[in-house]
Amino acid sequence: MRTYKFETQEVEVVDKYTCDSCGKVDDYMEDVLVGHNEWGNDSIESMQTFHFCSSECYYDLLNDYMSEELHRKTAYFDGTLLRRWEYIIDMTKDITTYMIEKKN
Ligand SMILES: [Zn+2]
Repeated sequence: MRTYKFETQEVEVVDKYTCDSCGKVDDYMEDVLVGHNEWGNDSIESMQTFHFCSSECYYDLLNDYMSEELHRKTAYFDGTLLRRWEYIIDMTKDITTYMIEKKN
């Protein structure tokens, strides 16, 4: 026969999040995984999670990370290779320029 008793355990849970771009603190924030796929342990150690509070902070983190890691062929930000991000940002600039020109 088994008898049961209640036990309480201490479990570590997230208390607050801090935006890695502007430093704002909140109960919840989205995160983004970054890193690169170069040699061995380096690639595992390169993995980091950044938290962000807004789309502006997301793009600030992206720009900061790109300026540091763009020289790497395999660096990624939020699942996308940085070199592809560079292409996407250039394309977005072209579209924005085109829209402004069309509007005027
Ligand atoms: Zn922020």
